[in-house]
Amino acid sequence: MNDDYNNLPTPIIVVDRSALRANLEILARVRREAQCTILLALKGFAMFSVFDLVKQYLDGICASGADEARLGAEHFGKQVHVYSPAYSESDIDEVARYADHVIFNSFSQWRRLGERLQQVAGRPIECGLRVNPGYSEVEVALYNPCAPNSRLGIPREQFDGQDLSGIRGLHFHCLCEQGADTLERTLKVFVDKFSMFFEHIAWVNFGGGHHITRPGYDVAGLIELIRDFRRRFGLDVILEPGEAIALNTGVLVATVLDVIKTGCDIAILDTSATAHMPDVLEMPYRPQIIGAGKPGELAHTYRLGGQTCLAGDVIGDYSFPQPLEVGSKVIFQDMAHYTMVKSTTFNGIRLPTIAVRQENGEIRIVKKFGYEDYAGRLS
Ligand SMILES: *Cc1c(COP(=O)(O)O)cnc(C)c1O
Repeated sequence: MNDDYNNLPTPIIVVDRSALRANLEILARVRREAQCTILLALKGFAMFSVFDLVKQYLDGICASGADEARLGAEHFGKQVHVYSPAYSESDIDEVARYADHVIFNSFSQWRRLGERLQQVAGRPIECGLRVNPGYSEVEVALYNPCAPNSRLGIPREQFDGQDLSGIRGLHFHCLCEQGADTLERTLKVFVDKFSMFFEHIAWVNFGGGHHITRPGYDVAGLIELIRDFRRRFGLDVILEPGEAIALNTGVLVATVLDVIKTGCDIAILDTSATAHMPDVLEMPYRPQIIGAGKPGELAHTYRLGGQTCLAGDVIGDYSFPQPLEVGSKVIFQDMAHYTMVKSTTFNGIRLPTIAVRQENGEIRIVKKFGYEDYAGRLS
């Protein structure tokens, strides 16, 4: 399989439609057996050249603003749910064109913009409020929406004395790469705090961060949890995972441009942690490389560095069975989600080419980037 990549230009992200379909089959089972709505969170994965496949399985997309909403409306064409920490008036006017569900992050936003949204849209839009249940098991502060002083979601105490007429749903998003057990504990807190408002609403959105397609995820447990919630409260349930759709569906292939030795052996690649896989630095995490091990585990250890001038543009230390040479390929796994949507042209680094591996095994390049993409975002 690795030979397939030898004739491709690098850096390149290759997304595998069979792997994507396998994830979608799992999500379709949840959707069917739990009778819930499942949306693709474009924040994590917005590769619209495969939406023809994704939309066969899911109900629509969720967006964080007007441009994601438009991408969803134009390329996915099913439900469009939008949530943003705050909308300007012009945001709302644009969102109104594409959305069918809009979630507000505060009572002040809802009061200021709710009516305008309905008027501009000229058709009914389902409005909801994002709540902050004050419970999360996310340990990294950067990814914890319930950390102290969070700006995401309305705390319970602010609901006292509020008029909820016109509100059709509640939304919480407190998970990140977590299992059904975490959801169960989170849901319990959410129900304890907010169930007194359920008589006013029709649906609850459980947000994203459900790692449903990870091996070992308790899919049956998730289904039971949703069924139980629906039975007890008679409310519709919406999930909006991003990562789970594209988990383990794509690789990033890079080429070694130089091998140098300073304190240690260093291979410089035609990719970049900061420009092409920023979560490696932000999260931070260590991506897996096909055929490589931890430092010292195999015969030849290298620090893998990127092509920018940022001193910390380092992907990590890895060992390989053979020495790396100029022209060697390095294949990073699980590079479909939170890469294309976050990549930048920082330092003039060209964006990775995007390709699809068809279900017959053939690789088709769908997008190449050039100088224009660098210059086009500057002036
Ligand atoms: C990021 C985000 C998602 C998707 O999260 P994943 O971890 O990719 O599943 C869904 N909803 C909201 C509100 C988000 O911020």
